[in-house]
Amino acid sequence: MKELMELEKAYPKLASPTSPTQRVGYKILKGFRSVKHPFFMYSLDNSYSMDDMAEFDKRVRKLTGLTSVKYMCEMKIDGLSIRLKYEDGKLALAATRGDGKVGEDVTENIKRVRSIPLLLQKNLNVEIRGEIYMSYTEFRKLNLLRQQNGLALFANPRNAAAGTIRQLDTSEVSKRHLNSFMYTLISPEKYDLKTQYEALKYMRKIGLKTNESSKLVHDLEEMKEYLDWAQKHRKEIDYPIDGVVVKVNDFSYQSSLGFTAKYPRWAMAYKFPAEQARTLIKDVTIQVGRSGTLTPVAMLEPVKLAGTMVKRASLHNFDYIQKRDIRIGDVVLVEKAGEIIPQVIKVIKEERTGSERKIEPPKSCPICGGPTGKMNEKDVAIRCLNPYCPAKLEARIENFSSRKAMNIRGLGKSLIKKLVKNGLLKDLADVYELGVEKISKLEKMGEKSSKNLIKEIERSESAPFYKVITALGIPMVGEGTARLLSNEFPTLERLKCARKEELMKINGIGEKVADSIVEFLSLEQTQKTVEKLTSHGVGTRQTESHEDDTPLKDLKFVITGTLSIPRIEMKEYLLKLGASISSTLSSKTDYLIVGENPGSKLEKAKKIGVKLINEEELKNLVNQLSKTSS
Ligand code: AMP
Ligand code: ZN
Repeated sequence: MKELMELEKAYPKLASPTSPTQRVGYKILKGFRSVKHPFFMYSLDNSYSMDDMAEFDKRVRKLTGLTSVKYMCEMKIDGLSIRLKYEDGKLALAATRGDGKVGEDVTENIKRVRSIPLLLQKNLNVEIRGEIYMSYTEFRKLNLLRQQNGLALFANPRNAAAGTIRQLDTSEVSKRHLNSFMYTLISPEKYDLKTQYEALKYMRKIGLKTNESSKLVHDLEEMKEYLDWAQKHRKEIDYPIDGVVVKVNDFSYQSSLGFTAKYPRWAMAYKFPAEQARTLIKDVTIQVGRSGTLTPVAMLEPVKLAGTMVKRASLHNFDYIQKRDIRIGDVVLVEKAGEIIPQVIKVIKEERTGSERKIEPPKSCPICGGPTGKMNEKDVAIRCLNPYCPAKLEARIENFSSRKAMNIRGLGKSLIKKLVKNGLLKDLADVYELGVEKISKLEKMGEKSSKNLIKEIERSESAPFYKVITALGIPMVGEGTARLLSNEFPTLERLKCARKEELMKINGIGEKVADSIVEFLSLEQTQKTVEKLTSHGVGTRQTESHEDDTPLKDLKFVITGTLSIPRIEMKEYLLKLGASISSTLSSKTDYLIVGENPGSKLEKAKKIGVKLINEEELKNLVNQLSKTSS
């Protein structure tokens, strides 16, 4: 892959538009071009009951004169519809539905959906319609990550898929693993296809992904059986569906039935009954997550929902509560949208009596009593700000033993959980007081693996100092900042007494980070931990980093404009690679990183002859320098 990428860069004219490199790599898009659809992208008529479906069948029979009609029954995928255009078998365009007449060109992002072939098995000029979706597994993973990072959550997989397809950073699309099902082939007569059944089979044959649960039924009775079956089994399926689409199988009958202004007359979407219920919020409790996030949870008057009794529902965060004006004592609508935990989606305001109570974000942490607040303005989550909150202990130890920190192999998530539960780890430094006896007492930990773990722990005692700093888990201090600190303060003994002014003299450390470090170091708990660590020899020797993972060493960067990632993340990224960063340009600056809407720095850089670089070029530079240094 790497070789291919290099070749394509050297000979761009020879790069194939269907090359596998199109799937990966990193591109920042400027926006999405509008595209006019040559054929109107119809919506579907909806029905909500078996009676409606019988009515639909009756209408079709009357208009076609048939006594029984064959239908293709297909799952109604709850994603976003997409139009694909292949030229000579190559993917030439992917567009969203938009309003049916005009959509957006999202080709670059669609290339990151692995189940969409860049090249068909036949050299056809063909138009395809289908659905892009996100599986429930991916959806939960994504929301969990967003919650940990204090970002707003997606309400359902459909919103998540739609949001992903409109990402400007294509690498983000690759990460989120979207998927697809195709269900319409335009102008099937060209391929001598007479039915939807044949069309689906043909699409599969030329390399498109179609849904295997589709079924050809021969009359209304069989259709009803399929609808029952689908409704019963929808829970076991990992992709979101909100019903079944029933289509007249025969294309000649489809043509004679035709379209209304909005819908085809030959299809009907049968929507599953929504899994919603009304109930009362009796109280609200606060859960404290591993990263200290405070999540409000509604305690409900128990209500039956999708076959189970529901007593609690997620309220996500305090912005969510405020936007919907949810109060204790409110009658609300709860919904199970594929998630395991139901959510409160709406207040029934007509039911208010006036005795409802507002829900305020707590001023102190319900676990430790520490102060609460947001980490930064963009954060929607309110967190416990006490770095030593017991709720965060497991996550803190995980950070401590992780590869980027003390790198203790064998001390992973599940073992940490056990050790904390058994009271063997109350603090980071307790890791160095574990003995073989203590560990092997835990079930499933034999003597051999206990011994190995102890060896690993002992080995970690001489970790390079920047890793020790990373391991401490100082708020706002990642690997990059840790490296800077370790240059000035090479041991725990020295770092312990760092003053704000000294810290701020370090290029790359601003006031906020300096404050955070000083505050953390001044905590009694920190002093205890540091003392214990020191007594085990951790962070006491001046260690030189011999790693050659600092390709940007000796380079000075300045940033202007909006980047695809928050500036603080870009700074961390650069620092980690050994660069130094400044907020003002000078003749000593090596590069100005230019984002969207750059400021006056751009002009100045041009004037004094500082090299300009965008994000993509920066990545290339890093790649190049990494290669030469290794
Ligand atoms: P609605 O948005 O509820 O009006 O439903 C119409 C949408 O259902 C279409 O625009 C498609 O995106 C979507 N859909 C999902 N699965 C299918 C399918 N198997 N056949 C046709 N349309 C489908
Ligand atoms: Zn707390």
